[in-house]
Amino acid sequence: MTFLLSIIFFVFGLIIGSFLNVVILRFHTNRSFRGRSGCMTCQKELCWYELIPLISFFVQKGRCRKCKAKISLQYPIVEFISGLIFTGLFLKFQDVFFMDTFAFTISYAYYAVMFSILLVVAVYDFKHGIIPDTFSLIFGVVTFIGLFFFSEGVFYPHFPSILELLSGVFLSLPFALLWLLSKGTWMGLGDAKLALGLGWLIGYGRIISGAIVAFWTGAIVGLVLIIFSKKHNIKSEVPFAPFLVFGVLLAFLFELHLFPIF
Ligand SMILES: [Zn+2]
Repeated sequence: MTFLLSIIFFVFGLIIGSFLNVVILRFHTNRSFRGRSGCMTCQKELCWYELIPLISFFVQKGRCRKCKAKISLQYPIVEFISGLIFTGLFLKFQDVFFMDTFAFTISYAYYAVMFSILLVVAVYDFKHGIIPDTFSLIFGVVTFIGLFFFSEGVFYPHFPSILELLSGVFLSLPFALLWLLSKGTWMGLGDAKLALGLGWLIGYGRIISGAIVAFWTGAIVGLVLIIFSKKHNIKSEVPFAPFLVFGVLLAFLFELHLFPIF
C-alpha cells in the first residue's frame, strides 16, 4: 500500500514539477503563464505526449522533434526532484495519512507548496545568481503564519514559543553576519532573507543540521568546480540557495540531528 501510494505521490510531484519549470522559465519575462508550452527555438506547440513529464524528454531523446534543438536538462531534473520531494513528504507523513486524513491533507499541502516554492527559488538562483525578493518575502510571511498552525511538521494550531518565533532569526543571522563582514562578497543578502523563512519552516530543532548540510555540500561542490572547471576560481560566487534548500529539505525529511543538543 505504502509503495503504491509512493508512486502516486511521485507522479503527482512530476506533474507539479513540469508546472514549476514553466514558473521558473516565465518569471520576470514577458511570456504569460497561459497558453500551451512550445519549443523555445522553433515555437512548435507540444502535442499531448510531449507534455508528459520526465518520459517525454527521453522519448524525444532530449531534442525538439521538429527543429532538433536541444531541450534544457532543467526540465527532467526539476520534474524528477519535484517527484522525489512529493514522495519524501508522503513517506514522512505516512503515519498521519493512515490515522488522520484531515491533518495529513493540511500538513502535506502546506509543506508541498513551501518546498515547491523553494525548488523554484533554488533553480532560479542557480540559473541567474539571484534570489528574487518577491519569493523570499511571500515565503517569509507564509512560514511565519505557519508557526501558528504547525509544530514539528504536523498540523497543530497553537501560539508559537519564543524558540519557534526565533528559529528564522537564528538561521538568518549567520548569513547576515557573513554578508556584513564581507561587504557582500562572500554571501549576498538574498541568502539571509531566504534563511529567515527557512528557519521558520523547519523549526529550531533542525536548523543547525540544515545549515551543516548546506555548508558541507556547498563547500564540496565549490571545490569540485574550482578544480575541474576552468570557468570557476576561488573568487567566483557559487549560488548558495540550492545548497540551503537542499540542507533544509534533508534536515526536515530525515529528522537530522547532526549536532548534540539539536
Ligand atoms: Zn523546435
